[in-house]
Amino acid sequence: MAEKFDVFVIGSGPGGYSAAIRCAQKGASVGLVEKDAMGGTCLNRGCIPSKALLGSVHFLTLARYAPLMGLEIGSVKPNWQKMQSRKDAIVGGFNKGVTGLMQSNGIKLFRGRGIATAADKVRVESQDGNTDIEAKNIIIATGSEPVEIPTFAFDGTTIISSNEALNLASVPESMVIIGGGVIGCEMACVYSAVGTKVTIVEALSQLLPFEDEWVGKIITREFKKLGIESLVSQKVTAVTVGADGATVSLESGQNLQAQKVLVAVGRRATCDKETIEALGLEMNGRIIKVNEKMQTNVPGVYALGDVVGTTFLAHGAFAEAEVAAANVTGGDEKMYDYSLVPRAVYTFPEVASVGKNEKKCADEGIETYVGKALFKSNGRSLAHNETAGEVRVIKSKADNKVVGITIVGSTATEMIAAATALLGSTQKITDVCFAHPTVSEVLKEAWEDAFGTSLHIPPRAKA
Ligand code: FAD
Repeated sequence: MAEKFDVFVIGSGPGGYSAAIRCAQKGASVGLVEKDAMGGTCLNRGCIPSKALLGSVHFLTLARYAPLMGLEIGSVKPNWQKMQSRKDAIVGGFNKGVTGLMQSNGIKLFRGRGIATAADKVRVESQDGNTDIEAKNIIIATGSEPVEIPTFAFDGTTIISSNEALNLASVPESMVIIGGGVIGCEMACVYSAVGTKVTIVEALSQLLPFEDEWVGKIITREFKKLGIESLVSQKVTAVTVGADGATVSLESGQNLQAQKVLVAVGRRATCDKETIEALGLEMNGRIIKVNEKMQTNVPGVYALGDVVGTTFLAHGAFAEAEVAAANVTGGDEKMYDYSLVPRAVYTFPEVASVGKNEKKCADEGIETYVGKALFKSNGRSLAHNETAGEVRVIKSKADNKVVGITIVGSTATEMIAAATALLGSTQKITDVCFAHPTVSEVLKEAWEDAFGTSLHIPPRAKA
């Protein structure tokens, strides 16, 4: 006898578990299957463990400039094993939390591999045998995996992905990171802080290539101060594994030696071949095609999160889960403009942006006026000795609307929520009272500059 549900969710990452909870809150009977640890990539191999390690090394970085702050605290040394166990404890706590949320919301949890065999049928395969499920709706939230470069495939020891990089047993002496995107740059901050000689090799012309050029320049400059070497516009042609590490060969002829080679060139969607074939899912390569309601081409089957290849962000998956869950339970919702999903990078300094950046505006022929403010002119940033960075507020000349905001600097990832709320506004920010002194006043200053009303920036010619 098959177990019957209104909604059956495959995958317990941020997309899957949040969709399941939302459906249950609307009164649907819900089942969810997870083949690995609860919480998906985000909780077990992504957002949370990486931020836990970054949290430890941020502390370490601050402690290192204690003398400058007038403090004598002696030597501060990282203890990698303790950093690892702290990270594991945080992850473990949330694993239990997500499992508990399933129970408290009345969601039946299955452990094993979920394969959709028809638009209303799923087979759960586990060590204890198979379970047949019947469901009025299926939500596929099977996530993604690290992209592998076939000519130097992951061996899990020397050539590693972010999965292993978050869990190394000891601190390597040296690491080459192939890829200067978010994951590569964040891991560079972790390992350089604990003493690894880190070199990033990026094929495009800047670190964080999806951001504007000025962002890449600040990050490269600040990384240099942290001892991270950045080689941009450089392609890796081969990685040769030897007795104690590997030789990374670049197109330029340069060879780099490293104990570990972290390949961080992106992630790719993953959905089981059996599910794709049984349902006849319309695909775009490995990505499941969905419309703005998160519906696949198969009636009653929805997909969201990394497997639909839109944002590759946990909060993107959360947002899509809201839409899918609303529609599955009788609503009529559409996913909002993806440019409203903020991007956040937890490097030193942090980077966060929302809306269109200057590059995108230029590509789309949008004439802009860009308001700018520097962290080094902000009282709180000086007090904290975290003065690197800049805020840019991009305003369209045609209708005076703010179309994008980019923040590089301490607490950028916290401030981006306020920036997102302000996006699209034509309002002068003098109506909003910012507490003083706060780092967020840099945002206010850049905003005012965009509207020609800056208090602390000397007048300059406005277009
Ligand atoms: P996933 O989290 O990948 O979950 C999919 C789940 O489905 C997995 O648990 C998998 O085991 C399960 N599954 C797959 N197939 C089956 C099956 N057939 N049966 C049963 N279960 C199945 N994003 C951010 O927004 N902020 C960050 O700071 C951030 N940091 C990151 C750092 C790293 C190192 C990495 C790798 C990623 C990071 N991300 C971050 C990205 C974020 O983790 C993903 O965007 C997010 O996890 C996607 O959620 P999801 O629900 O779509 O898929």
